[in-house]
Order: sequence, then structure tokens, then C-alpha cells
Amino acid sequence: MISEIFTRQEIHAAARMIDNASSVAILTHISPDGDALGSSLAMQRYLKILGKDPVAVIVPNTFPQFLSWLPAAQDILVYEQNADECGVILHEADLIICLDFNSSKRIGKVGPLLDASESKKLVIDHHIDPDIAADLVMSYPSATSTCELVFRFICQSGNFDFIDLPTAVCIYTGMMTDTGNFSYNSNHPELYNIVAQLVTLGVDKDDIYNRVFNTYSAERLRLTGYCLYHKMRLFKHNKRNSLALIALSSQELLRFNFHSGDAEGLVNLPLQIGDVYLSVMMREDTDKIKISFRSQGDHPVNEFAAKYFGGGGHKNAAGGEFYGSLDDAVRLLEQHVNELYEQKQPTI
Ligand code: 5GP
Ligand code: MN
Repeated sequence: MISEIFTRQEIHAAARMIDNASSVAILTHISPDGDALGSSLAMQRYLKILGKDPVAVIVPNTFPQFLSWLPAAQDILVYEQNADECGVILHEADLIICLDFNSSKRIGKVGPLLDASESKKLVIDHHIDPDIAADLVMSYPSATSTCELVFRFICQSGNFDFIDLPTAVCIYTGMMTDTGNFSYNSNHPELYNIVAQLVTLGVDKDDIYNRVFNTYSAERLRLTGYCLYHKMRLFKHNKRNSLALIALSSQELLRFNFHSGDAEGLVNLPLQIGDVYLSVMMREDTDKIKISFRSQGDHPVNEFAAKYFGGGGHKNAAGGEFYGSLDDAVRLLEQHVNELYEQKQPTI
């Protein structure tokens, strides 16, 4: 048995909202990752099994090819490509379920539609400080992933038996991707209890690993080599390499035929260097610089991402944006980099 993390009131209130709805729209964050898609598709399948119809999954923009094999991913509606239909669905939904994001700013152009909607709203998420005006917010930042929360939610609702193999596959995928294949934020013993239950349901975890991490294009791998050989800058603190920065211009991305999701995981690589415990990646997008932060141990990067780059996220994995040139974004980081070093270094 796994412990009950949601309160009885939360479970009852959520059940009432689901019972009272027939049409449901599920929303998740911009540039959806394994957890965003996995939790949304798992929730969609669960609600369909409960008899809800229609249940739509709407994402703000496209998702990476390496997640397109997820069960029912082909039915996901991409707002950017289908704004009118998504607008109607959101307007008509009895219930909107927001998964894996804590603010309407994280869903791009869908944000104003969510804010304006009069539908009932339920949030299930693991990012700190949720600020979505919803009827019920189930926020558990200590969870590894929203997928873990969806699993717990279904179980605590008394419906473990409704978790079939496709649902289990979706849940496992998000738990795996949000922990870097169980290499960070993954010390809670119950995690492995949940994994055991998912594998018992038939999840082939080795296959999922291969589908997500071993399906790169040749260009993607060459981009990795280019980043590490030509682009990685190391910053010293207390005479030791401590921070790595990779900043990529749009021309460089074009050269490697960059697609959405190609940057996924790149920011983690410099952490393989013994003394590097902070890693930053900047990538020039069409209208902004997208920034990813990673750290090891007791170095919260989410606060820094929020303070200087209008972002947020988790202690060891955060992101943000910069409106200006790539050089100016690098300069802003350089100006304040000492703040990133301030907390105590990880004990190894
Ligand atoms: P990634 O670097 O993989 O894009 O994101 C890492 C984490 O930071 C994710 O959990 C994501 O939710 C969060 N994150 C990424 N970009 C942003 C952003 O622009 N704003 C906020 N608030 N969080 C972000
Ligand atoms: Mn997540």
C-alpha cells in the first residue's frame, strides 16, 4: 500500500467535480514534456474509462517526436495549430483539469482563455506557489512528477483497478522523464512501490527508456557534440569549475536542423563533470531566449530563474525566459552568478 497524500476533502471535492461534468478539457504546459503529456493522457484515459465524454487533451504548442508514440498522443489538440476548435472545447467544457503547471503564464496563448473561462477548474500539480484561480488546487511540490500525483489520485479515489496498461505506460513515462530516469529527485522509497505496481500492470520500462532516450536524430547527437566541444563555458568559483553555460544562437540551431525537444537533456550533461554542480543552457527562440537551469544538491535554481528570468520550476530543475539578445541574457547571468553559488555546496 502507498500512503494517502491527498486529504479526504480533496478527493471528495475532486470526485464531485468529475461526477458533475460530462465534457472535460485537460490542459498542460507549453513545450510539453514527458510528465505533461503522460499525466494528461493518463487522466484522459482514466476519465474515459469512468464514462466521461468528450475528454480532450489540449497543449499550447507541439510536442517532441520522441513522445509521439504515447498512447492516444495522435488525438492531442495543439492550440497553435487549431486555435478555433480548442477555443470552443475550452468554452464548452464543464470541467477544465490543469496538469503539471502552476500559473496561466505557463500555457502561453491558452492562458487568457483559461482565466476567462467559467468552467469548473481543477489543478493537479507539483510546482511551488500555484496561482491559478481554480475551484480546487491539489498542489504537492514534494511529488516527483504530476504523473505520480495522477497515479496516487486514481488510487486514493478507490479506482486502482481502472488503471490499464496504456494508462500505466503514460504514468511511468512522466515519472521517468521528470526524474532523469530516476537519477534526481528520486529518493522517496514509495516511488519504487509505484513503479513496481506499474511494471506489474505490464509496463516495459526498458522499452520506454529506449523510446524516449534512444531515438535521437543524427543531427541531435552532433548538436550534443558541438555544444560540449565548442560551446560549453566553465565558470570557476573557489578555484573550482562550478557552473557550465551553453548558449546557442538561432543560426547554430538551424545548422543542426533543430526541432522541438532536441534540447531536452542537453543541459544535464555538464553535470557529469566532477566539480560542476550548476548548469545553464540558453537557446535563442523566435521571440525570446529560452533558459534551462539544472543543479545538484542544495542549490535551488528555481529562485534564481524566477528572480532574473521570469521563470520558476523545481529546486534542481528550473527554466525561464529573457526578452533581448542572447549576449544580454549571458551578461545578466554573469552579473548575478555569485548568487547561484551562495548556498552550501553538495556533499559528495
Ligand atoms: P526545462 O529546462 O526542462 O524546460 O524545464 C525545467 C523545469 O522548469 C520544468 O519543471 C518546468 O516546469 C520549469 N520551467 C521551464 N521553463 C519555465 C518558465 O519559463 N517558467 C516557469 N515558471 N517554469 C519553467
Ligand atoms: Mn512535471
